[in-house]
Amino acid sequence: MYTAKKDEINAIKIEYDYRKNNNFDVEYINEDNNKFSFDLKAGILSKNGGAEIDPYKFTHELLNISQNNGLKVYENTEIIDLKYYKDYIEVITEFGNIVKAKKVIVATGYNTKLFTNRNFATKTTTFNIATKPVKNFDGWYEKVLIRDNCDPYNYLRTTFDNRIIIGGEDVDFVPDIFDEQLANKKYDILENRLKNMFNNIKDIEVDHKYCGTFASTLDNLGFIGEDTKHNNLWYNLGYGANGILFVILGGMMLSKLYHGEKDKDMRLFKVDRFDN
Ligand SMILES: Cc1cc2nc3c(=O)[nH]c(=O)nc-3n(C[C@H](O)[C@H](O)[C@H](O)COP(=O)(O)OP(=O)(O)OC[C@H]3O[C@@H](n4cnc5c(N)ncnc54)[C@H](O)[C@@H]3O)c2cc1C
Repeated sequence: MYTAKKDEINAIKIEYDYRKNNNFDVEYINEDNNKFSFDLKAGILSKNGGAEIDPYKFTHELLNISQNNGLKVYENTEIIDLKYYKDYIEVITEFGNIVKAKKVIVATGYNTKLFTNRNFATKTTTFNIATKPVKNFDGWYEKVLIRDNCDPYNYLRTTFDNRIIIGGEDVDFVPDIFDEQLANKKYDILENRLKNMFNNIKDIEVDHKYCGTFASTLDNLGFIGEDTKHNNLWYNLGYGANGILFVILGGMMLSKLYHGEKDKDMRLFKVDRFDN
């Protein structure tokens, strides 16, 4: 994480101190020890905190292991309705089959209309380009994951086959998917930004362009826990820029809850925290 703006040096320093004091493995970088080819006034180099996996293989492995422990998986089966009873809920599938459950956990991402009228979040659309494989990464220290401190922020990573992905230029709405003019403008900005940041990488050539929508909340946290009306209906919704992290935490917290133990941090993710 870094900034190219002088007036943000202090904010980065404060964030660095927080991480350092909480035992994260971090190094403070600035203009004097800049390890990158782009302008950097202050930054935090975080170490030993990340890993790279194939999400498709990972998900299948999780499902395999869970199936060996009794999980039943029904693919391509949309839930179209829920019927609430005192001690259980009936889940109606699009094919008419009914699953009777003591607890239902809604983990349907941004699609919650079926379960509640609550407006959980605002939608943001983010844009990405992926390059063809490049020959070198001169000016990119250890191919680390990069994000700046801009609002909206830009994020950059490399792939195992030596491509670069840069994303950002977020807009706070869901554009018409046919609005190619807007999308192309965003892709051009990202391409120019990438070439300016890494002018030692001479063979940057765009291969893919795409955009995606994610949902954010006022405090950037997701929703984990019980519905306020139906206590057998639980939510695990990964909203905010770190939604993946929140659904993992949600999985852990809701398993505990099922076994009768309430994680004290669940209060941060309360479903009704924005009411009133
Ligand atoms: C471009 C982009 C970049 C992102 N970058 C990051 C990042 O760097 N870090 C991070 O932590 N997060 C990031 N996110 C956010 C992250 O992807 C989400 O927060 C996360 O995937 C949400 O997980 P989830 O399990 O709640 O929902 P999802 O992954 O959306 O899964 C919901 C599932 O429910 C299914 N479903 C929906 N309705 C029904 C129904 N009625 N019946 C049956 N099934 C249904 C859907 O088909 C889907 O499979 C990003 C998102 C986008 C779009």
